[in-house]
Amino acid sequence: GSSVDVDPGVEIDEENAEDDMLGGLMVDSTADIEVPDRLVDQVIGQDEARDIIIKAAKQRRHVMMIGSPGTGKSMLAKAMSQLLPQEDLQDVLVYHNPDDGNEPKVRTVPAGKGEQIIEAHKEEARKRNQMRSILMWIIIAIIVGYAIITGQILLGILAAGIIWLIFRYTSRGTDAMVPNMIVDNGDQRQAPFEDATGAHAGALLGDVRHDPFQSGGMETPSHDRVEPGGIHKANKGVLFVDEINTLDVRTQQKLMTAIQEGEFSITGQSERSSGAMVQTEPVPCDFVMIAAGNLDAMENMHPALRSRIKGYGYEVYMEDTIEDTPEMRRKYARFVAQEVERDGRLPHFTRDAVEELILEAKRRAGRKEHLTLHFRNLGGLVRVAGDIARAEDKEFTEREDVLQAKRRSRSIEQQLADDYIERRKDYELQVTEDGIEGRVNGLAVMGEDSGIMLPVMAEIAPAQGGGQVIATGKLQEMAEESVQNVSAIIKKFSDVDLSEKDIHIQFVQAGQQGVDGDSASITVATAVISALEDIPVDQSVAMTGSLSVRGDVLPVGGVTHKIEAAAKAGCDTVIIPKANEQDVMIEDEYDEMVDIVPCSNISEVLDVALMGEPKKDSLVDRLKSITGSAFEGSQSA
Ligand code: ADP
Repeated sequence: GSSVDVDPGVEIDEENAEDDMLGGLMVDSTADIEVPDRLVDQVIGQDEARDIIIKAAKQRRHVMMIGSPGTGKSMLAKAMSQLLPQEDLQDVLVYHNPDDGNEPKVRTVPAGKGEQIIEAHKEEARKRNQMRSILMWIIIAIIVGYAIITGQILLGILAAGIIWLIFRYTSRGTDAMVPNMIVDNGDQRQAPFEDATGAHAGALLGDVRHDPFQSGGMETPSHDRVEPGGIHKANKGVLFVDEINTLDVRTQQKLMTAIQEGEFSITGQSERSSGAMVQTEPVPCDFVMIAAGNLDAMENMHPALRSRIKGYGYEVYMEDTIEDTPEMRRKYARFVAQEVERDGRLPHFTRDAVEELILEAKRRAGRKEHLTLHFRNLGGLVRVAGDIARAEDKEFTEREDVLQAKRRSRSIEQQLADDYIERRKDYELQVTEDGIEGRVNGLAVMGEDSGIMLPVMAEIAPAQGGGQVIATGKLQEMAEESVQNVSAIIKKFSDVDLSEKDIHIQFVQAGQQGVDGDSASITVATAVISALEDIPVDQSVAMTGSLSVRGDVLPVGGVTHKIEAAAKAGCDTVIIPKANEQDVMIEDEYDEMVDIVPCSNISEVLDVALMGEPKKDSLVDRLKSITGSAFEGSQSA
């Protein structure tokens, strides 16, 4: 196809490509990487969407793009406009209609011609005005001359003044001859691209301005008040509308009409304005529509508009991640070069800096052997890092700058989480080397990309009635489930009947907005067992994992962020599910701070987390013999 690889002039070290973070690209910095000219060749990943855009450009079809923000929807739409033919571009002129001032005429001419027409009209108007002024001065001269001869000077001056006023106020009539060019493609080198995301009705469909002086010769002629909408400026080009469902229904309906007819009259959008009386002849709006949004947006958009686009075009899903291959990593290096060039002021990135960025793309993918395709955020990181380097007058953006940029461009959730840790350091929640019975450092994810340490405390008391699980806040349901799972295991090795006990579970930091408590079930289980058996838990250990009734530790999301949160909070050991081992992509600085212990069974978790040798060992041994496969078949909880 038309895919252009990273600069063919750059050598690739094929032998080490697999292990090299830059896929074997032999460059010292992004300055050595050539950026392709065409936008469509700059798009990374999204092969299907790219192919469709190329095909749709040939056939002039509409496209619907569904996917996450910042994955290249608007970029592809712009790329499409570069692929459309530019020969048939047009200028659009609006003329005064002498028969009906409220229905201006519309004329379409080949691009560049509009300018000439306007010039010719202006020239003519200038000449007319000149003639008029000459005529006026002749009349005034005659009147004044006559007045002097007859001695009626005062009357003469008065008459001259009246003549002057008449000429002055009727001169507006000659302006009406000059048309208003609402679409000017004279200098346009490619088919237009109009981004109408979030546009109000007037900006999308065109408008006629209000005129405060509606009569008396002071008014602006109606054709001069006509303003084009995005649909008209996109004529012969691309109209891009993201978050399509946020357009109000009436506007979506009108948009549909515009698509069907290929032309759309302009009228004043505000009902009380004088512009609402004006309606032009139809103005061409023959565009290719690219509607975008997430899946939700698509479901909420006007069904007729959706089926219209679908019926006459393509629908494509954008990918969120892509498989991590040497070739892909080379493209990510090119991405950095692209963003640096697009910005124009950033210093190019050193090899190390690019490596750090690609590592970040890996981390953000949150998926084994994948890279994130959320390029807008990644591009933001490139700019922040470049700005930091630029502020220091560096020749290149270095690895440190990228690291600093990452700290700076933390999400709101991350900032909240960090702030939390800071504040907690002032209170009793500090991590200690001690053991405490019934207290476990759990880990949770906040928002999308932030971990937080969430200590859990369990206390066991004789039941008041039937035994209950009592938890704080929204996490009640999760606590109940965790206790249920662990109680099946406890039954097997303990004489205590949990159904005769009240179990209080307290999430020390719960109430925190956006904390996802799911995946804390090994934490709750450990806390309950510790409280039940009076065995202290090592407070320098943090953990995350889900627990099955058989005692298996099941995988959870966000392990990387959770480990980092534990490290920041001062823990030195983090227990994670064995199945998540591959998902760990923590930064080097944390790597040195914590020991990561993958566990596949609750007995292993307790082995690491509990303290107090003889008691602990016997408990772990008992557990080992009953959990996992040994537990099979005997489960009747
Ligand atoms: P969307 O419209 O999906 O929200 P954009 O197309 O506006 O995202 O992407 C924002 C910026 O991120 C682009 O201008 C470009 O610099 C970069 N970008 C996004 N997707 C890609 C991609 N697939 N390949 C290269 N760069 C991309």
